[in-house]
Amino acid sequence: MYGGLIAETGSTRDIFYNPKHPYTWGLLNSVPNPKNLVKERLKPIDGQPPDLLKPPAGCPFAPRCQYAMRICMTQRPPLFEIGEGHKAACWLNHKDAPKVEAPIRRGTYNE
Ligand code: SF4
Repeated sequence: MYGGLIAETGSTRDIFYNPKHPYTWGLLNSVPNPKNLVKERLKPIDGQPPDLLKPPAGCPFAPRCQYAMRICMTQRPPLFEIGEGHKAACWLNHKDAPKVEAPIRRGTYNE
């Protein structure tokens, strides 16, 4: 959930091994690595959550998203079907969107 809306839904395996929403990527990258707690700094998601009294017209994550496109500012993304039971509300999952590799840090749960 982000900004009161479903950002991504799916099985634990889908979310941890094949996440398809930049907010999910940010959450996964903010999980501390128990093997490297001393050296590694936590990686926060920059920015602030949206004001739910004045919800944005487009994607609620857009002001914090490094992948935001013009459409993200004006049109709320639908829940795109990724696979059986796996959906993500992000325009990057549209068939015509630029291809972006999930920037997930390896080592905590997905070695
Ligand atoms: S719809 Fe756009 S702003 Fe929202 S998460 Fe996807 S790329 Fe980022």
